[in-house]
Amino acid sequence: MGLTKTSLVSLLKDKGIVTSKRLGQNFLIDRNFLKYIVRTAGVSKGDTVLEIGSGPGLLTELLAEKAKMVYAVEIDRKLYQLSQELFGHIKNLKFINADILSHRLHRLNPEIINLIGKTPIKVVSNLPYKVAVPIIMGLLESNLEGRIKLQSATVMVQSEVAVRLAARTGCSEYSAVSVLCQMLADIKILKKIPPEVFYPRPHIYSTLVSITPIGWGRWPNSVSVIANPDTKCQDEAISNQYQRFKKLVQGVFTYRRKTIRTALEKSGQSNLINRLAQAGSPADLPDKALAQAGALAKAGISGRQRPQEISIESYLKLETFYKQCQI
Ligand code: SAM
Repeated sequence: MGLTKTSLVSLLKDKGIVTSKRLGQNFLIDRNFLKYIVRTAGVSKGDTVLEIGSGPGLLTELLAEKAKMVYAVEIDRKLYQLSQELFGHIKNLKFINADILSHRLHRLNPEIINLIGKTPIKVVSNLPYKVAVPIIMGLLESNLEGRIKLQSATVMVQSEVAVRLAARTGCSEYSAVSVLCQMLADIKILKKIPPEVFYPRPHIYSTLVSITPIGWGRWPNSVSVIANPDTKCQDEAISNQYQRFKKLVQGVFTYRRKTIRTALEKSGQSNLINRLAQAGSPADLPDKALAQAGALAKAGISGRQRPQEISIESYLKLETFYKQCQI
């Protein structure tokens, strides 16, 4: 169809659609960029694509030209109706008027997950910026728990968020989200995109990011987790182990300026350390402080390091060590 900025603006006006900042409604109107995203995502005839936040449907139309099937989720009823009017006739395209997140459950909307089922999906989206992180985490966690089969996600996010997703140990942007995302996926920064190519023009730069799930790739004892042949138990074990790890990481990063020893205690992990002392660590350490030091040393961490200076591998070793002690 090839809508220009002028025709899109007058279409929105005709339909009485006023763009919402809260919902991150900045539409990508540059056709070259839209095509670049589809090309970079590597969408081809065998692929099922999920687009989150389809807006007026300009990216959606291009995705449908290349994919086998496209599911396009849009929360805004008026935009959903507009995209349906413009592109509803396309056979391999299904627009869904829904919130991708279930805020009550802090997860992806289970109705969308059921709709997609276990079909391998590629997510290609210009994400609503305020909820980009929960959406990305929701995709990766649902994939880890076996509720969806995520092949890849090629998503546009606020540049600041892209930097946090890909930040390496020791950088000031390295945070809980860097550890959790990089534990579950390979993150690649693809391209910084200027505000001019959007309508309305945002005040920030955007960045296209490629996210490729790696399952339990970085987990040192992945075999013990996935050895259980019962799928339901396996999914539950994975979920519990991951949730414990997430609690540990989010907890210590709340105290990013403290030493790891203090951060563990302040974030409520001292309980865990007390139990570690009582249980007696594998090295048979006599008291709480020594038990904690032993756990940290096993993970290759000095008690004086800050949460920001500790690698993903060390966090994983620490969690694994706690697990070995049945904590
Ligand atoms: N795909 C279009 C494009 O590339 O121009 C629009 C992208 S715009 C940055 C983000 C879209 O996500 C908006 O249309 C907004 O209404 C929608 N949105 C915001 N929150 C959402 C949510 N929780 N679930 C589904 N869609 C959402």
